[in-house]
Amino acid sequence: MNWAVKILSSHYGCFNLRATSLNLSYLTLNIIINYGGVLAQPNKKGPIKTVDIFCSSCKTQLFKYRKGGKGALVKCFKERISQDFTKIPCICPSCERAFARPALIRGAPAYKMIGGKVTFK
Ligand SMILES: [Zn+2]
Repeated sequence: MNWAVKILSSHYGCFNLRATSLNLSYLTLNIIINYGGVLAQPNKKGPIKTVDIFCSSCKTQLFKYRKGGKGALVKCFKERISQDFTKIPCICPSCERAFARPALIRGAPAYKMIGGKVTFK
């Protein structure tokens, strides 16, 4: 195990296996860290816990989402949305405000949430 992988595994325990098995270079690992990689990486199983995401202006539910981590909701990977209540992508079905923008995050289709437009619990 090289030092880069050691540093990673102390910060991101779950990343350890993937890093060693793919034998990524330090540079690649560094790029992944800079992009917030580990926490944002969509993984095949995904988080099990779901959160309900609401429009912050009218409180209409927008998604049921398998959210990883504890932080703020910055983006939603489409494959992790377990229930989608919107009719038009990124638009609240009730007050018709845009709450997100479509984006590709490392090749995975996702929605980037617009700051302050959604709440979740
Ligand atoms: Zn709304």
